[in-house]
Amino acid sequence: MDIHFLGTAAAEGFPALFCRCAHCRKARRLGGRNVRTRSSAIVDGVLKIDFPPDTLLHVLRDGIDLALVSDLFITHTHMDHLRAEDLAMRLPVFAHGLDGPLRVYGHDAVVRKCREAVGRPDPERLAISRISPFQTVDTGTAKVTALPANHDQDETCLLYLIEKDGKRVFYGHDTGLLPEETWERLETTSLDAAILDCTNGNLPFTGGHLNIEAVIGIRDRLAKAGALCGNSKVVATHFSHNIGLQHDDLTRILGTEHIIAAYDGMVLTI
Ligand SMILES: [Zn+2]
Ligand SMILES: [Zn+2]
Ligand SMILES: [Zn+2]
Repeated sequence: MDIHFLGTAAAEGFPALFCRCAHCRKARRLGGRNVRTRSSAIVDGVLKIDFPPDTLLHVLRDGIDLALVSDLFITHTHMDHLRAEDLAMRLPVFAHGLDGPLRVYGHDAVVRKCREAVGRPDPERLAISRISPFQTVDTGTAKVTALPANHDQDETCLLYLIEKDGKRVFYGHDTGLLPEETWERLETTSLDAAILDCTNGNLPFTGGHLNIEAVIGIRDRLAKAGALCGNSKVVATHFSHNIGLQHDDLTRILGTEHIIAAYDGMVLTI
């Protein structure tokens, strides 16, 4: 399974859209892996998680054929994860030569936001379906199970457990400390990779997002339960500019814990 990280920043991007803080100035100067866009990942070129406002940039930058993506799982409606208006670009006039529909999955607020943006389009182009916590979707190539996050009390934010070709990956952001019901599911599985929210870096824990200490805590609890083995990968992502850490800083700090700092364009093969 190839997991291609398209974006690895928090909502503001890095360097942030309008920001002149010292960290953003430094990232602008250094460029390279310090430049982060809004979060999304794509699995084996056909299964995508989230649809941020930087999607066109991702397609152009990494040479992606987005028409090959058949299934799109949305975690929640925050603007850095769902730019629903761009789904209309898959409809007639805007897109030609498509082989089949894009199936979009999300919970209630996601479905509502998509409907407001594109109405009820031809399901041969765009099929929007509601997925509830603990429901499993069989895409034909993967089984994807929705698990509750702890992120925004005003909507049901989801995390995803993706099983494909005998491999399992947990896509764990955006979230704060995981709900116990999510732990119950995770502790009975075996993961080849866990991708975790690290929005707050070395800053204090704030509740709706994780920091490095909390990522280590989740890694340790998963390992203690046997859900992670020695070969399993743990990846931190969704970094805020406020943490003041460039990619080399993150690699050094997280590396001591054998945790991978994601960067835009990174491909993780498990
Ligand atoms: Zn986010
Ligand atoms: Zn900044
Ligand atoms: Zn969010």
